[in-house]
Amino acid sequence: MRPLLGALAAGLDLVLPRSCAGCDRPGAVICPGCRVELARLALPDEGLLAPHPVPAAWPGCTGVLRYEGVAARLATEVKDGGRHDLVPPLGRLLAEALRRALRGRSPPRGGPVRLVPVPSAPAAVRSRGEAPMLVLTRVAARRLPGRVDVVPALRVVRRTRDQAGLTREERLANLHGAMHVGRPAAVRGRSCLLVDDVLTSGATLTEGRRALLDAGAERVDLAVLMVTPSRYRWGGQGSSLPFLAVSD
Ligand SMILES: [Zn+2]
Repeated sequence: MRPLLGALAAGLDLVLPRSCAGCDRPGAVICPGCRVELARLALPDEGLLAPHPVPAAWPGCTGVLRYEGVAARLATEVKDGGRHDLVPPLGRLLAEALRRALRGRSPPRGGPVRLVPVPSAPAAVRSRGEAPMLVLTRVAARRLPGRVDVVPALRVVRRTRDQAGLTREERLANLHGAMHVGRPAAVRGRSCLLVDDVLTSGATLTEGRRALLDAGAERVDLAVLMVTPSRYRWGGQGSSLPFLAVSD
């Protein structure tokens, strides 16, 4: 039943007037007012981020937006609200996070960097269709100047509890061993960039990175679209974002 409803909803998108995914105002996918709000939520391009407390062996992470207000709503709408029209603008923003992560790096040994999206749970893929992070990562990859390969190497192999409300230690324990690389040859000896939508405690990225390193990845860096603000410190006023000037 779900796939049929999804197909119907996709068809209705073609005939119903569009509304802003951030505030429901009729018109653009992201209205001018929400774009201004997103610019206010932009993270300065000032190096790598870390959650507090910092997880063990945390390599640093790049991101572009604070996860609050309009930004948080967009993250929910693209993932759970069926707003596929958010994929192009959010993909452009994710590309900026990836660019920040890859900048200044010498060409990796063994071929192009592997972009590995954090996997969705199998039940979520069954109910929502293709994994949102995989779709967003593919769009972002096309906007990067050098060659990268999108490799959905990670799978969720163990059912986990909802992370909301858990302490950092509980999150780490909840997720440990939850992810697995199905074909280690896809990442063995490779430089990988693990990609997720929102960074909160770092437990999800820590588990994905562990699984990739266990499978033989040479190096695993981290990038996210958004960062939960209460756990981070940063200075500055935010930086300009490349998509704001681009109409969609
Ligand atoms: Zn709006």
